[in-house]
Amino acid sequence: MTEPIPAPAPSPRPRAKALCLISGGLDSQLAACVLREQGVHVEGVAFSSPFFSPDAAIRAAKQLDIKLHVVDFTPHIAALLKNPPHGFGSCLNPCIDCHAAMVRKASEIMAREGFDFIATGEVLGQRPMSQRRDALNMVQKDSGIPGRLLRPLSAQLLPETEPETLGLVDRSRLLGLSGRNRKPQLEMAKRFGLVEFPTPAGGCLLTEPNYTRRLKNLMEHEGLDDERLLRLLAHGRHFRLDAGTLAIVGRNRGDNEFIRTAMRGGDALVKPVDKPGATVLAIQPAEADMPAILGLCAAYSDGKPGDTVSISVMRAASKPVASPVVVPPRQDFEARMI
Ligand code: SF4
Repeated sequence: MTEPIPAPAPSPRPRAKALCLISGGLDSQLAACVLREQGVHVEGVAFSSPFFSPDAAIRAAKQLDIKLHVVDFTPHIAALLKNPPHGFGSCLNPCIDCHAAMVRKASEIMAREGFDFIATGEVLGQRPMSQRRDALNMVQKDSGIPGRLLRPLSAQLLPETEPETLGLVDRSRLLGLSGRNRKPQLEMAKRFGLVEFPTPAGGCLLTEPNYTRRLKNLMEHEGLDDERLLRLLAHGRHFRLDAGTLAIVGRNRGDNEFIRTAMRGGDALVKPVDKPGATVLAIQPAEADMPAILGLCAAYSDGKPGDTVSISVMRAASKPVASPVVVPPRQDFEARMI
């Protein structure tokens, strides 16, 4: 008599796939580690814009040895700066809407590449604006994928999400961290062998008061549609002259070089010829502001007040034209510095 053919063993549950928002900070790296520890396949997603760079996330992904998807977030954050439904934090940081928009962008990759859920390193109560319970709820609601957004570090304090109810992750092995105490995270970092992580909350220029003062000024005049102007905000000293021209004065060789390459048709690039000094980029200058632009360039040259220096003006596709300028004191421009 032939033996009955045994029923096939139930096929093992396919390995769950999580796409984790990686800032490069410790918490997002720990979220990835906690999921990976229970067998979840983890990849990362990071965002780039003139206000924050993915560099720390790229280093973190190397440390974690995970694939990283990098998304250009510039148009999304620019739109939120114009109209953030949940408002700004202490500077021009629309954190709640920014987080929700990042999760929405990540969910597009999730749908396209077959991930099961999105994870973040958010910790309940750790940051005053974006990680209060109501803020986490708002991000969850606005993310477009409320059931599939998991915060592994605080999951036990939050309602169950789909990956937990479906058994893709084991809720009992997720964490219940809350508050500003970083000790548990630092202990976990040791346990997971993480050695490289920048300070929490660092790296976003939208949280820096000096930077956001310039950004507000740009929003009021040129607007936010020109990405090169957004990138120039992080370089040099910025002046708003009387007829409305934005003039950017390099602080060092790196700024001077950046400013030079940022020139476009209609701008004026202004430099001292016979003395070392700053390069000045005037954006679409008003003719009425040209004397002040030359004076600004002379004031930030090595010439002393009262000296005469030769200043050249170059406009796109034309040869530089030099003219003598008496060096004014820098204080003359203080009131116009942004
Ligand atoms: S700190 Fe900057 S990058 Fe982070 S959520 Fe806020 S606005 Fe977005």
